Amino acid sequence: MSGWLRYLLLGLAVSLGLLALPAGPVRDSVIVVAGICAVVAIFVGVRRHQPVRRGPWYLMAAGVALWTGGDAAWAWLVHVAEVEPFPSVADVLYLLAYPLLAAALLMLGRRRGAPWNASAMLDALIVATIAGLVLWVAYIVPTWTDPEGSLQARLVGIAYPVADVMLVSQLVHLGGVRRGRTGPIRLLALAFIVMLVADVLFQASAYSAVLEDQIGLLDPLWTMIYVLWGAVAIHPSMADVGDAPSEVDTPLTIRRVLWLAVALLALPGVVIAETAAGVPVHIAAVSWAGVALVALVVARVVGMVRQMGEQARRLAELADTDFLTGQENARRFTERVADAVADEDGLHGTRRGAAVLVCAVERFTEINDTLGLRTGDELLRAVGTRLAVAVAEDGVVARLGGESFGVLLPGVGSGARAARRAEDVQRVFAEPFVLPELTVSVEMAIGIAVAPSDAGTAADLLQRADVALSAARGRGDRIARYAERMENGSALTPQLMSELPNAMVENQVVVHFQPQVELRTGQVVGVEALVRWQHPKHGLLGPAAFVPAAERTGLIRSLTLHVLDRSLAQAALWRAEGRDLTVSVNLSVRNLLDPDFVGDVRRALERHRVPAGSVELEITETMAMLDPNRSVEVLGALDALGVVLSVDDYGTGYSSLAYLQRLPVQRLKIDRSFVAGVLTDPASAVIVRSTVELARHLGLSVVAEGVEDDATLLALLDMRCLAAQGFGLGRPVDALEIPALIDRIEARVPGLVLGRLPMQRVG
Ligand code: C2E
Ligand code: CA
Ligand code: CA
Repeated sequence: MSGWLRYLLLGLAVSLGLLALPAGPVRDSVIVVAGICAVVAIFVGVRRHQPVRRGPWYLMAAGVALWTGGDAAWAWLVHVAEVEPFPSVADVLYLLAYPLLAAALLMLGRRRGAPWNASAMLDALIVATIAGLVLWVAYIVPTWTDPEGSLQARLVGIAYPVADVMLVSQLVHLGGVRRGRTGPIRLLALAFIVMLVADVLFQASAYSAVLEDQIGLLDPLWTMIYVLWGAVAIHPSMADVGDAPSEVDTPLTIRRVLWLAVALLALPGVVIAETAAGVPVHIAAVSWAGVALVALVVARVVGMVRQMGEQARRLAELADTDFLTGQENARRFTERVADAVADEDGLHGTRRGAAVLVCAVERFTEINDTLGLRTGDELLRAVGTRLAVAVAEDGVVARLGGESFGVLLPGVGSGARAARRAEDVQRVFAEPFVLPELTVSVEMAIGIAVAPSDAGTAADLLQRADVALSAARGRGDRIARYAERMENGSALTPQLMSELPNAMVENQVVVHFQPQVELRTGQVVGVEALVRWQHPKHGLLGPAAFVPAAERTGLIRSLTLHVLDRSLAQAALWRAEGRDLTVSVNLSVRNLLDPDFVGDVRRALERHRVPAGSVELEITETMAMLDPNRSVEVLGALDALGVVLSVDDYGTGYSSLAYLQRLPVQRLKIDRSFVAGVLTDPASAVIVRSTVELARHLGLSVVAEGVEDDATLLALLDMRCLAAQGFGLGRPVDALEIPALIDRIEARVPGLVLGRLPMQRVG
């Protein structure tokens, strides 16, 4: 049994045991000893539990000590001096104890530094007024007007009820502010309630002869009060009492309202009781108490109404806010778009042509998958902020959900102008995001719809901007304005996903190949496999139309295996014709999380009898940053198979070369966004040049993607890039066209590069 409980039970037993003793010096000494024990217990408790705030406990100790002193003085007067004066030194000690105890209670009701809880204070004042009124008519006035009492006796006589009112209101205050009512709080409240009961009975004994005869029955109560105080102080969680979280505001619950109503009934109650008893009614006192109560209740209700108004405002705000980014949400955005579209109808004819841009972070799923949700969230917040800055002048930004944001440009005017604004928006994302743990580059795809030409209602405008976004994702510049022909492509995704498995079986899902050219020689050394869907209804679909959705829905596993299978079958055919081409296949992040993937690759290699060294698997940088445990294991196993691993889209992600070097990759494919700028943008040129340089030191070879013209090709050659790929060399084509394409390339490019490289030709 814990110490405080033992103390409490023993104390209660002693208190009740008192009744077995005759009233007299022994009993009174026991009471005094209980008081001394309580003071000691408080000091022991403070020492042992180290409460943050000692002040209230010391105040309480002082109050209890004074009270005990009063008991001791009274016992001495009665039993030793054998007089029973009123008032006496005992009364002085008792009365001094009250304010100390009330102050201690008040301080324990509130966490240090926390704001005062006005509602709890008002409740306390309301109760104080009512209790004050009752005591006024029942005790104070009779005592004060008692013709027999001396002034001193009368003063002391009314001081007790006043002190009691103080304690009652402090208890109400404590009850209002305490959130978790812990054991010690309950004990403390109980101690003060017992004290009040004993006090009231004791004071009533002055008027009732019956009570006066039985006054000795109160002795166990006095003792119990001491015992409770002591037990509170040594309770292990006493330290929390003065520093636990407290309510900043006590809500007006139905229970509290009922209590308030009952309390207010005290006004007529006093009048009725006095009338019934046939004593003169204290009209003035009741009226003044009424005035005070009305003022207090009004203040309380005003506080509540204000609080409700604040809550309503907060709720309205929440209903309009996106919880993650703190920006407006889709609901509010739709409202705003509706307002802007309504304006088009001519009320304020000045603002023609509201545009909606739906902007989405490209490859966000991959970022989330590889870098974790927390980073993803952080990135979304940063993206939202940057968007808001980009259109601050005349636009509104909202998060529509997932990785997509809406921008409303109310008076942009025309589609062309909206497109220029979209470019501006994209430009602010050229700079990478510096998040706490890493730096992330993102690309924004933007779909545009303009009212009234694209749609006449908010819902249509938003939906069409979304359709345009899907189209934008498949384009090089990642911006698209809505056009009707896009319609079949958009709402299509779920449909496409349900058709995909069958499409693979029926060989609608095909692979095109884009040549990779070795720069030093101008020879085609490999091809990249790029998936296409020859859809019976929608025509030839690019990967953007179905690969992201396949990634989301889990179909990517069979899609990757399908592409791998087709590519290896094709590679085997070429080998049979004597063409030793490396085939590169793109992986998706999910493949690296799949423990069966390595086995699938091994079986495919065996099935088609293609040497592993002729197969390259491309992973993007984000994928390379995967959770080391799983992905590194898969990458290691693939490496052990002997396939070549390369990092795709290098430069758009987050990884340092030093980090990549720890992965078993042999090749970097520099993203076309850098390659395209090699001639015009010095920064891109520096990046490509230094990447090639560094890569060479690390034993990695570099392939440049997106080479669209000869000048770029030659610049890359100067930078000593190993290979290149791009529309300038050859677009992705069906396997059947590859031999002719290779012939064309090898008839032209060697001359171009060899002519530029006399030194190397000699060496
Ligand atoms: P990627 O791996 O970066 O592939 C290169 C993309 O750039 C291809 O687009 C290609 O057509 C395009 N491209 C090549 N040269 C140039 C050029 O000179 N200029 C421009 N502007 N673009 C060029 P495609 O075929 O639309 O593929 C897009 C992306 O879809 C690929 O980007 C790849 O990430 C993904 N993908 C393609 N096939 C597969 C696949 O079988 N599985 C997976 N998981 N993803 C695939
Ligand atoms: Ca690729
Ligand atoms: Ca690429």
